[in-house]
Amino acid sequence: MGINDIPNWCMIDMKFAMIGAGAMGLRYGILLQEAGNDVTFIDTWQPHIDRIREQGGVYVMRDHKDRHLTKIKLETPESYNGDPDMFIFFVKQMQLDGYLKRCAHFFNDRQYAFTCMNGMGHIEKLQKYFADDKIIGGTALIATVLPGPGEVDFMGKRGAGKMNMCPLDEKPDEMTHKLFNELDKAQMHPTLTDDFTGTLMTKVIFNSVINTLCTMFEIPMGELGNFKGFYSMGRQLIDEAYDICARADIHLVSTRDEEMTALDRNVRIDMPLHYPSMYQDMIKDRPTEVDYINGYIAELGRKYHYEAATHLFVTQAVHLAEFHRQNEAKKRAAKRQAELQRQTA
Ligand code: NAD
Repeated sequence: MGINDIPNWCMIDMKFAMIGAGAMGLRYGILLQEAGNDVTFIDTWQPHIDRIREQGGVYVMRDHKDRHLTKIKLETPESYNGDPDMFIFFVKQMQLDGYLKRCAHFFNDRQYAFTCMNGMGHIEKLQKYFADDKIIGGTALIATVLPGPGEVDFMGKRGAGKMNMCPLDEKPDEMTHKLFNELDKAQMHPTLTDDFTGTLMTKVIFNSVINTLCTMFEIPMGELGNFKGFYSMGRQLIDEAYDICARADIHLVSTRDEEMTALDRNVRIDMPLHYPSMYQDMIKDRPTEVDYINGYIAELGRKYHYEAATHLFVTQAVHLAEFHRQNEAKKRAAKRQAELQRQTA
């Protein structure tokens, strides 16, 4: 049997709990629910929880259109007491520790953890709560936006996008195949790969170019792709990251040239109007995941005595952009306060 062939016993639906009902948690969870699975969402962002409860569900759009209400089961870590087959983690890297601590009371050693979060650092955190043979990692080339509390926008046509998945022990078991089957039914276009670290790192490197550069300059992906210096900027980041992975004996799933071609296609052809998820955080004055993407590559480089000067530089450049936005937000708040005082004087 080939690695992507699905055996018959996989036709049974599953019970999932989505840890994080943000953009990607909602997309995966709602599509898995529509594919016939039992899905519960677990979240902690109070304005989002309140709005979903008030509305009786989440407003779902596709490419800003067809806004409709979808019912979901929503709990907080404290109110949930279910026993799903699998948890799907979709939170930001810096939120994961907090979620794991709050959710630990309902984890047991029969359950699996699956995630397609961007960046690196999350797997070690999941390993503190789940055995290695119960962890499945992956990557998603699927763009989704959370415009505000209680609503989600799926970018791209139904079935657009694709994803990779691989068990941490690189031995796909019955549950891996069941998950693959449900993701396939949900039209997420999964591919089962056979190199865990290589699969995840290839996407980290991909994001280290697109997410970082678009966020820093607050530009859509097509603008980056159409800039005549894009190849040389991208190639510099790719070369550093690939040199480090070679030293670390990480086998990436594409060559440098293939990665550049995939980047070019993604920004210019597949999603020219889209802003990456890191940009969504920046404009909402939330911290970005840059330390877990470019910062992670640079840290890995240091471990192997390689100074990733470009990745270190762009990590700080994104932090500078964050710092600037925080200062602007403070100035706006001070102006509002002064205006309020003037009106009540
Ligand atoms: P998200 O920010 O939409 O949601 C993550 C968590 O943050 C949820 O619990 C959500 O309720 C909460 N949240 C959202 N907005 C908030 C706000 N303004 N204030 C406070 N809390 C808020 O995250 P996501 O986009 O679903 O990303 C989850 C993971 O998937 C990340 O690692 C991300 O990089 C990765 N990813 C995202 C996309 C995408 O297109 N969104 C694509 C591929 C991978």
